[in-house]
Amino acid sequence: MIPSNSRKMKALYFDKKLELRKDYPIPVPAKNEALIKVTLAGICNTDKEIMNGYVPFTGILGHEFVGIVTECSQLEFIGKRAVGEINIGCGVCSLCKRGMQNHCPQRKTLGINGKDGVFSEYVTLPIENLLIVPDEISDEEAVFTEPLAAAFNILQNVEISKQDRVAIIGDGKLGQLIVRAVSTTLCDLTLIGKQEKKLELAQDFCKTMILNESDDLENSFDIVIECTGNDAALLFAGNIVRPKGTIVLKSTYAGQIKFNPSLWVRKEIRLIGSRCGHFAPALQFMRESRIDLTKLIDKTFLIDDWEIAFITAFSKGALKVLLKLTK
Ligand SMILES: [Zn+2]
Ligand SMILES: [Zn+2]
Repeated sequence: MIPSNSRKMKALYFDKKLELRKDYPIPVPAKNEALIKVTLAGICNTDKEIMNGYVPFTGILGHEFVGIVTECSQLEFIGKRAVGEINIGCGVCSLCKRGMQNHCPQRKTLGINGKDGVFSEYVTLPIENLLIVPDEISDEEAVFTEPLAAAFNILQNVEISKQDRVAIIGDGKLGQLIVRAVSTTLCDLTLIGKQEKKLELAQDFCKTMILNESDDLENSFDIVIECTGNDAALLFAGNIVRPKGTIVLKSTYAGQIKFNPSLWVRKEIRLIGSRCGHFAPALQFMRESRIDLTKLIDKTFLIDDWEIAFITAFSKGALKVLLKLTK
C-alpha cells in the first residue's frame, strides 16, 4: 500500500495558467473515498473552457480518466481498474435525496469545481462514484466513459424511436460519441458536419452530410441534436427541425448568444438541455457493442509532454487526445 501522505506526485495544476508540478502531495482519501492511480486521462473541451476562464477553477485539471484503485475501505475495489462519475453531491439536499447529485447546488465536480481532477498520478473519489471496468474494455476505451455517458444522457432526456428522423449537428468528439449512442435506437440518423474525414468516421452508424446553411432542409427532422456550441448552428437547428419537433442542446455556449426565438414559438419547438449522464449505460454499451472507440483517439502523450498534448488537443479538427499518467 502506498503511504499516501508522504509521497509526492506529478500534477497539472491550474491557477490562471496551467503548469506541471512534480512535488504535489498525493491526496489522502477520506473514509468514504478511494485512492486511484490514474492510468489514462482524456483532454476535453471543458478543460479548454476552464483554461480560458469561462469557469472559475483553481486546482488539478481533468475529469475523464481510467485508473487502478490502490486504497479503499471496500476491499473488492483494490487492484481493480475503475472509472468514476465526476459529480459529488452534498448527499443531504432534496436533489441529492432524489438521486440527482448531478444537479446538487453544493456539488463538487472533479477537475471542474472544488475538487482536484485527474491530470495527476493519483486522485481520490467517493467510493460510491466508482465503477469497475469490465475486462473486455481496454483502458483506451474506458477513458471515453464520461463523454460517452454524456452522449447517452440524451436517450434519458428524449424518447427517440425507430421512426424518428434525427439530425446531429457537429462532427467533433462529442458529435461522434452521440452518433454511436443515438444509433442504438435504430432511428433514421444523419450527422451534419464540416469535415469529410470526420464524417467518414461516422459512416458505419448513420448518413452524413456536409453542413451547408443554404441547403433546403427546412422541417426535415423530428429531432435535432446541436453539439457545436455556436449560434449559427442553433439557428440552423431551428430551421431544419419540423414544427412541434425537438431540439436537444448538448453544448454549453461561451457567453451570450443572439437570436430571435419567434420562429421557435411559431413552430412550437421543444427545447431540451442535456449534460452529464450515468456511467453504467456507457460501460454496458462498450462491453456489448464492441464498437472501436479508439478510432477517435488522435494521440497519447506522457504527462511530461503536456504542453504539446494541449496544443494538439485544441488544434482545429482534433479528436481525442489522451495523457498517460502512470504505467
Ligand atoms: Zn469532458
Ligand atoms: Zn445535494
